[in-house]
Amino acid sequence: MNRTQLVETLDSVLSAAGPDGVTGVMLMRLQRIRELLQVYGYGGGDAIGDEAHTRLRGLLRPCDRLYRLGEFEFVALLPGLHDGNHALLAGNRVRRGFQAPLRVGDTEVMTSVITAIAVAPEHGCTATALLRSAEYAFGRAMRSPDAMAVHMAGGEPALVPYGRLREAITGNRLEAWLQPILDLRTRRVSAAESLSRWHDPELGQVPPDRFIPMAERTGLISELTWWSINASLRQLASARRRKPALGISINLSPRVFGEPGLVEHLDSTLQVWGVEPEGVTLEVTETALMEDPALSERLLRRLCDAGFGVAFDDFGTGYSSLAYLKRFPATELKIDRSFIQDLPRDPRSLPLVQAIIDLAHRLELTVVAEGVEDAETLELLAATGCDHAQGFFIQRPQPAEEFVRGLGATAGRLAAGGG
Ligand code: C2E
Ligand code: CA
Ligand code: CA
Repeated sequence: MNRTQLVETLDSVLSAAGPDGVTGVMLMRLQRIRELLQVYGYGGGDAIGDEAHTRLRGLLRPCDRLYRLGEFEFVALLPGLHDGNHALLAGNRVRRGFQAPLRVGDTEVMTSVITAIAVAPEHGCTATALLRSAEYAFGRAMRSPDAMAVHMAGGEPALVPYGRLREAITGNRLEAWLQPILDLRTRRVSAAESLSRWHDPELGQVPPDRFIPMAERTGLISELTWWSINASLRQLASARRRKPALGISINLSPRVFGEPGLVEHLDSTLQVWGVEPEGVTLEVTETALMEDPALSERLLRRLCDAGFGVAFDDFGTGYSSLAYLKRFPATELKIDRSFIQDLPRDPRSLPLVQAIIDLAHRLELTVVAEGVEDAETLELLAATGCDHAQGFFIQRPQPAEEFVRGLGATAGRLAAGGG
């Protein structure tokens, strides 16, 4: 396809897509071409381009369209995106997909792809405007360590959240904060949930509600998850010198479910820190499980078989809570704080929470109530037979070192009866 044909085709697809949603145009060029042609000759070049084409097709979603511009140049149209950052997910998949060599005849050829992205309507609504924007971004993509970039309307902004988050993760500048989980029977802390924090010198404290979704959309979630697992287990190992039976809960994003070697990687990280899987609970949310139920089911089964705890996080907020209780194996259920927060005031909350607890117990799941903000709620929960509680009344999340220092100090107000 030549450029004129490409522009015509893109324009007709873009206008058919209508004004709704964000569509990405992704420009991709193979690297080291001259060198490859010297080694493999011009005939070899064709074969490499064909192989790259096939590989790219496999790395894109079925709804994406792929066009071949020249021998070593491709353009993909990515419909139905969330925003520009979402397009980086596709860029990241392409980058990772080319980490393995291409097979051409019986030789293996190492190449890489530089990816530049523009999105409609933000960067234009016509093929010409979008391709021009992608070309602008191409220069930055060539200098970027990830070999990719999204065009930025209005030039190069001072902040590049994607790059900054990436640097924060790889530079080990995120922090694992811990929030205690109280055993309502013994009134002692039995575990802690690990919650990530990012303090950026310019952006300030960035809450996980902002950077986790962004990491999920761009593919950084994989690095973030491995950082979090390692950091959380390191903190657990240190906390256990004070409290040997302490457990830890770690949030697991659905986006890592498909990663090959997940369970093995988890196991080897446990060994590094001398922790057994029984001390670790992996928290998953319903949206996560429902994205690919068959894959989730297999993975949760393997995690349970390996001895890990598995918790259904934010229980009750999704659309298919009962369906996933039936389908997926787990050891724990965390009642979302929206059910807990008005427990003392809303007459319908208490029977609802009681019913969830009874249901969970019949399924042999331990129950954690999230979002406990006062003494009255804590006592109501204890009376319902809830096993554990977590929330600002017990303690806010705090830097892991502070959490460890505070272990062993008993808070009188948490004693049975309110105190
Ligand atoms: P979550 O897993 O439901 O975590 C509990 C959130 O509730 C935390 O917010 C915590 O600070 C907050 N919280 C705890 N007690 C109370 C309370 O009594 N009242 C109220 N109003 N809030 C309370 P945070 O730390 O901002 O985390 C938000 C979400 O970000 C988490 O929700 C979790 O889904 C996600 N997240 C945090 N760290 C990680 C991580 O390392 N990996 C992944 N995949 N997700 C993470
Ligand atoms: Ca959680
Ligand atoms: Ca939760």
